Amino acid sequence: MKGILRTEPGLSAAVALLLAAGLCMATAGADGAEMFRYETDNYDVETDVSPAFARLLGEHMETIYKEYSARFKEYGRVTEQFNVAVFRTEEGYLKEVPRQVRGSTGVFVSSKKLLAAHCQGRTVEEVLRTLYHEGFHQFMYLVVSKRCPIWLNEGIAEYFSEATWNGQGFTTGQVPTLRVHVVQQALRDGSYIRLHELFRLTPEQWLLNVRTDARRASLHYSQSWSIVHFLIHAEGGRYADMLDSFLRGISDGKDQEEAFVASFGADLASFENTWGQYVMALRPSPKFRCRDNMEAVMLLADLLGRDGLEFDSVNDLRREVLVRRRYRWEITRPTGEKTNSDDREEVAGLFRCPFDRSNGRLSYLLVKRLDTGAPMLICDHHPGVIIKAYYERSSPRRKVAVEEQVRETVDQSLAQAIAAAASRMEP
Ligand SMILES: [Zn+2]
Ligand SMILES: [Zn+2]
Repeated sequence: MKGILRTEPGLSAAVALLLAAGLCMATAGADGAEMFRYETDNYDVETDVSPAFARLLGEHMETIYKEYSARFKEYGRVTEQFNVAVFRTEEGYLKEVPRQVRGSTGVFVSSKKLLAAHCQGRTVEEVLRTLYHEGFHQFMYLVVSKRCPIWLNEGIAEYFSEATWNGQGFTTGQVPTLRVHVVQQALRDGSYIRLHELFRLTPEQWLLNVRTDARRASLHYSQSWSIVHFLIHAEGGRYADMLDSFLRGISDGKDQEEAFVASFGADLASFENTWGQYVMALRPSPKFRCRDNMEAVMLLADLLGRDGLEFDSVNDLRREVLVRRRYRWEITRPTGEKTNSDDREEVAGLFRCPFDRSNGRLSYLLVKRLDTGAPMLICDHHPGVIIKAYYERSSPRRKVAVEEQVRETVDQSLAQAIAAAASRMEP
């Protein structure tokens, strides 16, 4: 369950058990003791990673805050800055957070009003997503209500954790392939959590459920995410006002059930049915189609590379699978679906990013990392980020990691390698 498996060891602690890849510790200070600080209107950020990282965190938190507050306009005013601390190592993190959240990668500590996370073994993208998630718990607790039901608090936090940086702000409402797949599967086989049960879960029950069963854990988060997605986006936002009124009721002290009925009506069966239909019709967002394509191209390069082929460019690989067609092959996609050498249209589609506006056949660039010489696939067609796909070093069977990197953090050598690969590409 790559990317969506979480357990919550504390009321608002999220643990993302994620891929270990390019870590965010590269620019750490020599002894790790020095803290770099960056202040914005609403956040006071501290980190021992680097001054540039402190600024990145501060700017992202300030911008995601605008997304939180645009959705919850009419709540209390913020009178003090939110505190954020991001540590290079888990050890540094554990000194700041309560013992119970040991094993987590990020947490909102309500008693200290502190949002904390660590970078050890995690990509920058993973750290940022943890902060968008935990940052929402902080916002909910300090600005909206301390009584938000756990499913809704987690569902909205997950919704914001999927926000995509677009260079100026965030694009929200993304539909990740695996997340929607998990909920669709559960709806198909009937293993989804009935809404009358989900809505009544206490934080303690939630915690127990997600700790005891990884599959259930991922379903708890993804199903709650899908209900929030439904409430915000279904039928042109028809239910968004009901969500507002529900939260307003909660923050005014109404009991959950009473607030729910007042906002959504008493017919939960019909609500469940409408939500289920909405989820079954959801499709992954274009960004995720790109990420899935990149993973598939890397799997294909590895598969055919093992048969004695070497690819110097994505174009060679494309020519092999679409023109020369000397091999029969099959790859497994993130959802378990298969793609094979006979699906020519689908195979041709693997080489195209939905964001690529050109008429070319190829959207992706193959670059070699300067330090290791390892191949890396790049998509340079998204505003605000580049997308990278590479083989994970740790896995014996080559596993592909796909990672978004904020454009302004791309270092010069990678930028040069991308430019060189682009200039080599055939028109
Ligand atoms: Zn959470
Ligand atoms: Zn792309």
